[in-house]
Amino acid sequence: MLTEIKKFSSESANQAADILKKGGIVAIPTETVYGLAANALDENAVKSIFAAKGRPQDNPLIVHISNFDMLKPLVTEIPKLARQLAERFWPGPLTMIFDKSDIVPVETSGGLSTVAVRMPANDAARDIIEKCGFPLAAPSANSSGKPSPTAARYVYEDMNGKIPLIIDGGTCRIGVESTVICFKDDKIRILRPGGVTAQMLGEYAEVEIDKAVETAPKSGEKVLSPGMKYKHYSPKANVYIVNAKGEDFALFCSKKMSENALFLSCGEREGFTDYGETSKIQAQRLFSLLRKADEMGAETVYVEMPSKEGIGLAVYNRLLRAAGFKVIEPHRD
Ligand code: AMP
Ligand code: MG
Repeated sequence: MLTEIKKFSSESANQAADILKKGGIVAIPTETVYGLAANALDENAVKSIFAAKGRPQDNPLIVHISNFDMLKPLVTEIPKLARQLAERFWPGPLTMIFDKSDIVPVETSGGLSTVAVRMPANDAARDIIEKCGFPLAAPSANSSGKPSPTAARYVYEDMNGKIPLIIDGGTCRIGVESTVICFKDDKIRILRPGGVTAQMLGEYAEVEIDKAVETAPKSGEKVLSPGMKYKHYSPKANVYIVNAKGEDFALFCSKKMSENALFLSCGEREGFTDYGETSKIQAQRLFSLLRKADEMGAETVYVEMPSKEGIGLAVYNRLLRAAGFKVIEPHRD
């Protein structure tokens, strides 16, 4: 199959909607990362997403809507808190989990009785959903396990020959996937951190952070967010988080300079690759730098410990999974 890349326009959006209406899949930009979209209510269309990504069937998809009215038919109930959060954070990088209605196929929900829903802030994404008139299941448009794509060319790397069309909407503004939350006893539980932070959600209810965010699940342990149990977001290179900052990180790396490695520092430092001074910039750059490691043929990536504040928790969470939870403690050497 020939894979076309087209800049977002009303014409390319119409072409995308035509493909989606016929049960096909199209990669679309969102403010978080690029998504691999198909009709969320068509089980065969959804199956082709899993096939293109090589994604495990038990890893549910997020359903994307373009207006609040599209939520009602997908769920059995909308809690008051969810309404308040939708009012404040939609459109935006917040995914909420609801009990699903019968129209949502089990293929979309990964066999769960719940459905994850989000309204993207990206205009191209909402325009395409609006033109379709049905919600789009849209997981990140990478091959399963690889770093999520934050630009159209990265989608092409993974999906060339597998999908007919990539809509190019430029570089993703946020760069890490949405915050995923569920509700329990009037509390908010963060299953995956993202651009809508614990601090922001804390203005509305008590917030708990699921232990899967910062720790590896034990084998056989039940996880609330199936996607979080896998090694993920990973380049071919071996990634290590180094639990050191500034001069201590530089000192650790100075002993590794002979290796074929990429050194990612928080801010500019001679001889290092800067992955950003602030958490916001780190989120924007992280996935493209992990892909760059492979482009360079690096065998190892050493990453300076990021701040875990705000969107920094999302950066840390993705890094942990890219590293397969390997954190080096240089002070204990
Ligand atoms: P991605 O589609 O790559 O952005 O990943 C979607 C994430 O949302 C994965 O970590 C899923 O496990 C999680 N997710 C989707 N639907 C649900 C659900 N119904 N319950 C819990 N987690 C979900
Ligand atoms: Mg993903």
